[in-house]
Amino acid sequence: MTIASGLDVHVLVDEGAQAAMEGRDVGGSYGEAVQVLEWAHERFGDRLVVATSMTDAVLAHLTSTVIPGVRLAFIDTGYHFPETLGMADAVEASHPVNLLRITPVQSVAEQDATRGPRLYERNPDLCCALRKVEPLNRVLSEHDAWVSGLRREDAATRTWIPTVAIDAKRNKVKINPIAAWTQADVDAYIREHSILINPLQQEGYLSIGCAPCTKPVTDGSDVRAGRWSNSAKTECGMHL
Ligand code: SF4
Repeated sequence: MTIASGLDVHVLVDEGAQAAMEGRDVGGSYGEAVQVLEWAHERFGDRLVVATSMTDAVLAHLTSTVIPGVRLAFIDTGYHFPETLGMADAVEASHPVNLLRITPVQSVAEQDATRGPRLYERNPDLCCALRKVEPLNRVLSEHDAWVSGLRREDAATRTWIPTVAIDAKRNKVKINPIAAWTQADVDAYIREHSILINPLQQEGYLSIGCAPCTKPVTDGSDVRAGRWSNSAKTECGMHL
């Protein structure tokens, strides 16, 4: 399986996994993250993009430290909390990133007019497909590899996440540099580097998506327990 630049995805994933393994010798999970990002930058250059939800600026800080000017994609669904939009502005102003604000084909008003209001209540899978997955696929179509902030600890559905993988649906290399980080690792990184966090976190929103589909999380629940909490839905389709 080859990507746009003609490279074999399986070979790239093997190289990336090797780079990540070597990273363990130079400083645990932080070293692994840096090592694999250095490899990804060397391998993909401008064909690499980072996806962020703006729950915090850990991934923006980490990637822009290793790759100044990194392309950071923010999917602006039209349903974000004002605090999340403020985070995007703050990250853009305070980090050496090239922030790409990707919007759905239709505005919320246009979608309401053609499909009826509150599609997120009647058919959240379709709403996510239109407002998250299609914009992500569009930006990924211009890249060979993407970086996400997925972590194994986030939810029971994510315990298997590798550091470097093939995104077979999109024929891309997917890099999860902080997959192995624990919440304690994240908290330590935030403290050590004075990382911006979305102010909603202080109100119990531990994983922050669109306002209609995100609730605060009570103590002891999965980080993602507040997402689509009134339905069986657990993922938007961007990652899994
Ligand atoms: S999270 Fe909710 S509002 Fe956002 S795209 Fe998905 S269904 Fe729509």
